[in-house]
Amino acid sequence: MQTSLDNFKNKPGLHIVGGGLAGSEAAWQAATQGIDVYLYEMRSEEVSTPAHKTTGLAELVCSNSFKSLRLNSVAGLLKHEMELLDSVIIAAAKKTQIPAGQALAVDRLAMSAAVEQSLEQTGKVTRVNAEVKELPTKEQMIEHKQAWIVATGPLTADALYQYIQANLLEESTDLAFYDAIAPVIEADSIDYEKAYFANRYEPEKDDYLNLPLDEKTYGEFIEDVQTAEYSPLHAFESTPYFEACLPIEVMAKRGKETLRFGPLKPVGLVDPQTGVIPHAAIQLRRENADATMFSMVGFQTKMKWPEQKRVFQKIPGLENAVFYRYGSVHRNSYLNSPKCLSPDLSFRRNARVFLAGQISGVEGYTESTAIGLLAGRLASALLSASGFSVPPEGSIIGSLHSYVTKGVIGPYQPMNANFGLLPRLTKERFETYQARL
Ligand SMILES: Cc1cc2nc3c(=O)[nH]c(=O)nc-3n(C[C@H](O)[C@H](O)[C@H](O)COP(=O)(O)OP(=O)(O)OC[C@H]3O[C@@H](n4cnc5c(N)ncnc54)[C@H](O)[C@@H]3O)c2cc1C
Repeated sequence: MQTSLDNFKNKPGLHIVGGGLAGSEAAWQAATQGIDVYLYEMRSEEVSTPAHKTTGLAELVCSNSFKSLRLNSVAGLLKHEMELLDSVIIAAAKKTQIPAGQALAVDRLAMSAAVEQSLEQTGKVTRVNAEVKELPTKEQMIEHKQAWIVATGPLTADALYQYIQANLLEESTDLAFYDAIAPVIEADSIDYEKAYFANRYEPEKDDYLNLPLDEKTYGEFIEDVQTAEYSPLHAFESTPYFEACLPIEVMAKRGKETLRFGPLKPVGLVDPQTGVIPHAAIQLRRENADATMFSMVGFQTKMKWPEQKRVFQKIPGLENAVFYRYGSVHRNSYLNSPKCLSPDLSFRRNARVFLAGQISGVEGYTESTAIGLLAGRLASALLSASGFSVPPEGSIIGSLHSYVTKGVIGPYQPMNANFGLLPRLTKERFETYQARL
């Protein structure tokens, strides 16, 4: 292990900041393409992040599971695609797998050691134990035949954040320090008999799908929100909530009527079945152009996931709702990637710097690794003047790439892999896929 940044920053090759899941995967992908890699990781006996506990590469910060291996699940498909693309993280996870039914759970220390061993065996990866506070200029990178990948994760050290904010973003607000995520529901699992399209203030439009609540149902809903089980805040998550983006439970605690004068305001939403405005209304908004997913407007919450399922499925119209993503509120720094990145995951303001991992706006171990894999291959393609085609949008990894580079309708928020990100299977698309087989 090397410790001085200065000895390496002029070396030709790929420089990767962050030896987490995404950075380690990117290092492997580049090294196996014959590229010299310098992997900067700041964690040491003295320095860490609020979530990491070891100094090892590719440390899993919380759960030790990479979710399902079943090929009829999105998590299983994504892992399968990544194996086809020679993922070192999935290989190490499988090598250090422990019994967990159909999920890929691992011995986390053994997995980290297996990743380190694989990287070392390439003979192409130098680990540098240092915090990177700024990057060279684009001109310096060109002069030294370099590309850089930023893979510093949701807990990126402050100095680098400030550098990114000042030098790589389109606007300083393209960096979010905290996210409040609303649940996302599979469109086909909603009961449309109990829902209707209408906008609050534009009667001629139908952008929102509304779920009306009568007084009794509203009262029960508020009671459920007030009494449900919630995840505790981590010590490092003491950031105050934004007043304009409060979790539903915080609003419900302020009083029974608060939500009815907030996101559940029924104003203007005449129910076509009754001809009157309901007591309250929950609004769902299309999450993508194909309308395969709907998000619950204003429903950011720290309610535990099984509790969200229990409470939200009591809402008329959502009895059989399939949740692609549950709501959450936690510290998670990420960039507005669709605005700042080119299709090859490099920054528009510096095409020699690529972004990878959770900081790009994906959510989860496998998803972060997947974007690391793509960034590693795309940066290698730049350095070796070769080509790399990103898998198509109809694949899970391609749909994640599409999300990161194009986003969806509405504000850009961290997203896990889900079938709703895939393009809708129209007759034309089906025939095209069939013709390719
Ligand atoms: C508290 C918490 C719990 C989570 N739990 C789960 C979970 O259970 N399951 C799940 O699927 N996902 C979980 N996630 C989300 C996500 O999958 C993980 O954060 C994942 O580790 C992201 O991978 P990454 O490679 O992008 O970032 P990380 O794995 O965090 O890697 C980034 C690395 O960059 C290093 N670094 C940061 N700044 C610098 C710098 N300036 N110079 C040098 N090195 C630097 C860090 O030390 C770190 O090693 C959790 C996230 C958090 C914050």
